Amino acid sequence: MAIKQCQMCRKNEVDIYVDTSQGESMELCWECNNQLAAKYLGITLEPFRNGIYEFAGIRKRNHKFMIRKIIHPVGIGYQAVY
Ligand SMILES: [Zn+2]
Repeated sequence: MAIKQCQMCRKNEVDIYVDTSQGESMELCWECNNQLAAKYLGITLEPFRNGIYEFAGIRKRNHKFMIRKIIHPVGIGYQAVY
């Protein structure tokens, strides 16, 4: 199956399928989803770099998480991908 491209930026891979209140269906990447959601909610997004963050756990073991920001209608979420 071919990798689908985001409808808005035509650059990134599709991460999320959004149904709008107009009954349309959109295929978006996380970045464009966030831009759209922020506009809809009337909030200004703080710059946040999706990427790998390290946290020190017990016994000084480092844990790496891939973290991305997701704007939901109820607020801003951060998802640890792994
Ligand atoms: Zn996009």
